[in-house]
Amino acid sequence: MFTHRKKPLFPVKVGEVDPKFAQKLLEQFGGRSGEFTAMTEYFVQSFACSHKGIRDMLLDIATEELCHLEMVGLMVEQLLRGAEREAAYEDTLFSMMGQGPQFADSMGNAWTSDWIRSSGDLVADLRHNISAEAGAKMAYDRLIHMTDDPGCKETLTYLMTREISHQRMFTSALQSLDQKMEGTLEPKTDLHTYYNLSRDGGNGDGIGSDERGPWNADGEWLFVDRPEDKLSAKVEGPKP
Ligand code: MN
Ligand code: MN
Repeated sequence: MFTHRKKPLFPVKVGEVDPKFAQKLLEQFGGRSGEFTAMTEYFVQSFACSHKGIRDMLLDIATEELCHLEMVGLMVEQLLRGAEREAAYEDTLFSMMGQGPQFADSMGNAWTSDWIRSSGDLVADLRHNISAEAGAKMAYDRLIHMTDDPGCKETLTYLMTREISHQRMFTSALQSLDQKMEGTLEPKTDLHTYYNLSRDGGNGDGIGSDERGPWNADGEWLFVDRPEDKLSAKVEGPKP
């Protein structure tokens, strides 16, 4: 069951009308990393989630995302309300589609459920959600740099902060699971092998150097310097 209260989760007070910024903000209404994507994604994931606690968390966050969607919609409305007809109509998207929020991104691309991931595997979904929240954080971060309106900045900073909170919640949920690997089968071979398949030019004339780091450090990883020799020897079949 859902009910609605006629009060946004956090105040939305836009100072100046700004149709161009309203179009940019649509990214968070009907875009890939927007609030509608987040809300529908966590909602649909909850049905396939047999972990009672994480299912509850998915529903709590999905409902919060719906509150965020309402806030972004109100911001778009306020950014357009009272705009000079000419000023609003300078903006292609609103002049063609009407002066309210649309389920489209900032470029006018229609929202699609293809952007939603619900794999039926909790580990895979949680990893995806962490990445999705990073995308949402980044989008708000960029939007905050695109406006000088203090009211817009305040609301967007609140939303950005909540996306960081969600990212941490999903990370904690993932860490709490005993099973850290998606799917059901355990890996068999080459799990800790690093293939150095992108090498430097050899004479210092390449476009980059071979870098070492925690992702291929000795001790944890078997660093194979010329893997093509090893791999081609491995797959060599009977001679014709
Ligand atoms: Mn959100
Ligand atoms: Mn979120």
